[in-house]
Amino acid sequence: MQRSLVTVDLGAIRDNARTLAGVLGRTELWAVVKADGYGHGAADAARAALEGGATTLCVATVGEALLLRAALPDARLLVLGPTPPDEVAQAREARLELTVPDERLPEGIPLHLKLDTGMGRWGSSEVDSVSGVVGLMTHFATADDDPGFAREQLRRFLEATDGYAGRFTRHAANSAAALTLPESRLDAARCGIALYGIDPLGVDASRFGLRPALRWESELAQVRRLGPGESTGYGRRFAATGETWLGIVPVGYADGFRRDMTGTEVLVDGARAPVVGTVSMDALAVRLPEPLERGAPVTLVGDGVTLEQHAAVADTIGYELACGIRAGAGRGERAVVGA
Ligand SMILES: *Cc1c(COP(=O)(O)O)cnc(C)c1O
Repeated sequence: MQRSLVTVDLGAIRDNARTLAGVLGRTELWAVVKADGYGHGAADAARAALEGGATTLCVATVGEALLLRAALPDARLLVLGPTPPDEVAQAREARLELTVPDERLPEGIPLHLKLDTGMGRWGSSEVDSVSGVVGLMTHFATADDDPGFAREQLRRFLEATDGYAGRFTRHAANSAAALTLPESRLDAARCGIALYGIDPLGVDASRFGLRPALRWESELAQVRRLGPGESTGYGRRFAATGETWLGIVPVGYADGFRRDMTGTEVLVDGARAPVVGTVSMDALAVRLPEPLERGAPVTLVGDGVTLEQHAAVADTIGYELACGIRAGAGRGERAVVGA
């Protein structure tokens, strides 16, 4: 067993892509693999998504796209973020497609014009010039929690782009919209989180037929008994009221198990156990129902323990936790199965 082992199941990503492609029907599935594939490994995730039916890969930066280009010479690659002028030549050379948020259109490279319909971030308010444009897009601010506003954004987008239907690829939907707002699917849907089997609405991705691709495992490095009044960890945030058995797991916030995840549950020897006390940089403590053996397996994510559950405890979203899990650089291993 490893101190910290992250296993990515490419079969799950492939199956999730197939499921999404099935839901989308005539709409193309574009796989979003930015942020190193939401922490799953961009090139591996990209390959699996393409095998499952995705037709285009989307990343945030030219740098991410160049790394993918080296691994996937033939894939269609779209950069979603804004590209600084001094990166355009490289992007052209690598046969990327760019998203443009305003009226300055670089030349000699396929462009996707971004319309701001309510996200209040990047994007113009209308289509002015269309030289070099192959796609028209917008991004929803509330597809996961306010479908009413998402519908209003869609209405604005359709109104602004109506004259270009059929001529340009129109794309608006992210995972949440693709799964829950059928009318937003248009020509292509840009799905990220759902590919990895994480529910964009933070509940449970299995209701959409998706399964998590990431497992995170460790083991008990130590088992100890606390007497009444004794505490564990920094700040003495957990103190035993009676005799209490604790397991110490050698994973902490430096690995991506955040400090605000105290109170969440993990599996120890297959049974749920709460994380207690302060999560430190390299360790966390779990309360055990009985004195277990050192070396007992700990599942931090997997077998029904989901990032969505941890995110609810930490008052964040599965996206942020997935991107934050770190394995490598001497701190645990990353393995890939299902290739
Ligand atoms: C990240 C991103 C997506 C993917 O969103 P998910 O919720 O992960 O599906 C889609 N479109 C744009 C513009 C993005 O930046």
